[in-house]
Amino acid sequence: MRRAGSLVLLPAFAALLATAFAVASADDSSTAIKTDSLLPGDNFVGWVGQPIYADDLFEALPESQLVYNWDGEAEQFRFASPHVRGDLYKIDPGMGIVIRISGDEAVAWRRPDDRPVPIVFLEPGWNLVAWSGADGVSLGEARSSPDLKEADIVAPEKVERLDFGDAIWVNAPHAIEWRQVPGVPIDLIATETASAVNKNALITEALSAMDWYKQEFELEIATHLTLYLHFDCEELLADALPEHDVLGELQCLGSYHPFSAWAGPDYVVVDLSALYMWGNSWRPHDFFRDVYTHELAHVLQYQLLERSLLDEPAWLVEGVAMWMTTHRKILAD
Ligand SMILES: [Zn+2]
Repeated sequence: MRRAGSLVLLPAFAALLATAFAVASADDSSTAIKTDSLLPGDNFVGWVGQPIYADDLFEALPESQLVYNWDGEAEQFRFASPHVRGDLYKIDPGMGIVIRISGDEAVAWRRPDDRPVPIVFLEPGWNLVAWSGADGVSLGEARSSPDLKEADIVAPEKVERLDFGDAIWVNAPHAIEWRQVPGVPIDLIATETASAVNKNALITEALSAMDWYKQEFELEIATHLTLYLHFDCEELLADALPEHDVLGELQCLGSYHPFSAWAGPDYVVVDLSALYMWGNSWRPHDFFRDVYTHELAHVLQYQLLERSLLDEPAWLVEGVAMWMTTHRKILAD
């Protein structure tokens, strides 16, 4: 994927990478585990792990006989069952789900809690989402978020205080960007046509890619990132913050530019139509994971170089970003 402005790789970066390789352990299983007690009947859970297929959840939790969630965009429930073909295939971070446990005994459930979703995009109307804030936050405190001004929060099961990984109902009067955790150094500026599902996938994967570079190479993005998500070039230019020259030497060609994503020193632009062009629209997490692993490599190149060098060899600049994406996939397998 092409970058606007300059992206370069210097020996300093290569040396840093070499060091990172030397210290990075082969252990990529840094997944945190949370133990929950699930009661017979319906249990509300906020999903804060990696995206997981419903079938894999049933395998890990054989006592579960049904999982369902509320699709805020379609305004309908979706379900999965080990016995009947349902219409819920994948559970993504940020989703609130209901797990039905059979039998009459509580089940101890060890589940991953390594994928916090500090910014949640809400559809107008009801949303069932995960709580990624601190443990023990009262409903009143959660409701007092300025983002939720006219929204209503209802905790299922008469919960008075929220813990990380709980599920929560939110009724939003319009589309809302809810920062459950303040101070996350990311802004998303997206086309109005982007769905909450796609925006939630984008934010989760951008944060996850940042975390991956930190864990794997001890490389930290030191700047506040602005993420752009658009369909249309003119709209992108209209939305771009004045300090961001998001096209650089590129031009709007016809309806759009020829690249699906690119990065600058403190921003990343993604063309949402690439999600559909590449046939990944039902797996936005996979798409955004690859895109942000690649583009954040460029942001880090800018950061480590501290200068713009358009003349650096593209094979080296792009090679590193492409290698990162492949490397991450291999480690995840
Ligand atoms: Zn690139």
